[in-house]
Amino acid sequence: MEQVENYTYVVVGGGIAGVTCAEHLYILHPEESTLVITASALIKAVTNVLPLTKTLDAFDVEERHAEYLENQCPNVTVIRDAVERLDAKEQCVYVSSGKKFKYKKLCICTGATPKVIAEDSPYVVWIRDTESVCQFQARMKGARRILIVGNGGIATEMVYEVTGIEIVWAIKDKHMTANFIDPGAAEFLRSELSKEKVDATGPSKRRKYTVDMKESASTVMGGALGPDWHSGLELRGSNQRRVTLETEVEVKEILEPDKFGQSGKELTRLSEEEVDWPVYVELTNGKVYGCDFIVSATGVTPNVAKLLAGNNLSVGDDGGLVVNEQMETTEKNVYAAGDACTPGWEKARHWFQMRLWTQARQMGSYAAKSMWASLTGEEIYMDFCFELFAHATRFFGYKVIILGLFNGQGLEGKYEILLRYTKGMEYIKCVMLDGRMQGVVLLGETDLEETFENLILNQMDLSSYGEDLLNPDVDIEDYFD
Ligand SMILES: Cc1cc2nc3c(=O)[nH]c(=O)nc-3n(C[C@H](O)[C@H](O)[C@H](O)COP(=O)(O)OP(=O)(O)OC[C@H]3O[C@@H](n4cnc5c(N)ncnc54)[C@H](O)[C@@H]3O)c2cc1C
Repeated sequence: MEQVENYTYVVVGGGIAGVTCAEHLYILHPEESTLVITASALIKAVTNVLPLTKTLDAFDVEERHAEYLENQCPNVTVIRDAVERLDAKEQCVYVSSGKKFKYKKLCICTGATPKVIAEDSPYVVWIRDTESVCQFQARMKGARRILIVGNGGIATEMVYEVTGIEIVWAIKDKHMTANFIDPGAAEFLRSELSKEKVDATGPSKRRKYTVDMKESASTVMGGALGPDWHSGLELRGSNQRRVTLETEVEVKEILEPDKFGQSGKELTRLSEEEVDWPVYVELTNGKVYGCDFIVSATGVTPNVAKLLAGNNLSVGDDGGLVVNEQMETTEKNVYAAGDACTPGWEKARHWFQMRLWTQARQMGSYAAKSMWASLTGEEIYMDFCFELFAHATRFFGYKVIILGLFNGQGLEGKYEILLRYTKGMEYIKCVMLDGRMQGVVLLGETDLEETFENLILNQMDLSSYGEDLLNPDVDIEDYFD
């Protein structure tokens, strides 16, 4: 006999988007039942939220047991299982243990899976969840050289965190960390590549991930890690740190030693005594590097394949479920949030999607509000956070804040740049169009994020200030706050 359970709200996924969605459903609709179905043993909880600006919060991400969410939100039930199929017409999902759950409103928060180069190669590793971090750490023991492929936040953090090892960093762009910063900021950070990471002194205020392999072992993808994925983990090799940056390249071929020996290709030598390597990588610029293993950090693809069959769900060019301004997919009563979705609404001029925990949280919260409003007939407006792209992180030990069209996105090169730069201390770049601020990159402790956020949001004409806008002798916060 088929086992069927009924819930008002069903949320699929125990990552930041799913957990935030369930928490907000409890706040908005505590008398209605919510079920969270998650394939991972641990769920992600957002804690210690500290507003930095109107659109940007700093927060910690902690891994918790499901009971944490159930205790916090008594209307929420969490089950650990994997959704195998969605029947949007019947308004139900089927899980791998054979159960069927009916819903009035469903929110899909299944995250994204890494795009991995040569997935089947035993020499390729990638980072996504606690399990993959453990595997990476095990491979680091005794390693002398690794080749990191990718130019996003994960690759950048890894280059910084991994010490005592040679790193070949292969990127397809002209400059490092191109998804997050402009060439100038990349130049500012580039000198850090050759330095050993300075161990932070004093206790960290963030709680670290505790990695319990017994709990995280699973054949289904766990939740993507958050900002502290490397904390508490030993990412130290047995050699001298040295980073070689290869720009505008991709991996052409991965060659195992026997094949490399016969290939006649010439090895690119980094060390005096080149040794036999477990694997060789040929880049599209013709160089061949030997290394212990390859780290693939080349972006993600939304994890939604299982939910598509038999349903009328539109999928964006990037593979995410297309959602409208209420976070609703093209199937009635089916919503999506976080890495799994692709916004299909007409976006505000200074906002765009980037698959980050900040947006997973914002979308999870807004999806909950939309589902509740649709059931109760309440009128809601689009959340203010979708007015301005805002992200805070740390690269190479520097505080990094990026706001709006920080790389001149969509401005077709027709913009001016204002720059203030003090080597080893701060880098401030403002993207200006017709005297109005469009985007900002802030590296270091600048304390300018709130002022600049206001200036981007209110589109004030700043032409009369000219370059004085960044004059260190002018206290611009006083002018504009
Ligand atoms: C190594 C690493 C470092 C990162 N660093 C940063 C950073 O510094 N800053 C930042 O902003 N972002 C960072 N990100 C990105 C960020 O982690 C993601 O954007 C964010 O976690 C997405 O949240 P989510 O809830 O949408 O998805 P996820 O956190 O991926 O959660 C997806 C959930 O769905 C579950 N699931 C999947 N399929 C099914 C199924 N069929 N049935 C049931 N459950 C299912 C999973 O088990 C999981 O619980 C990083 C990502 C990685 C991998």
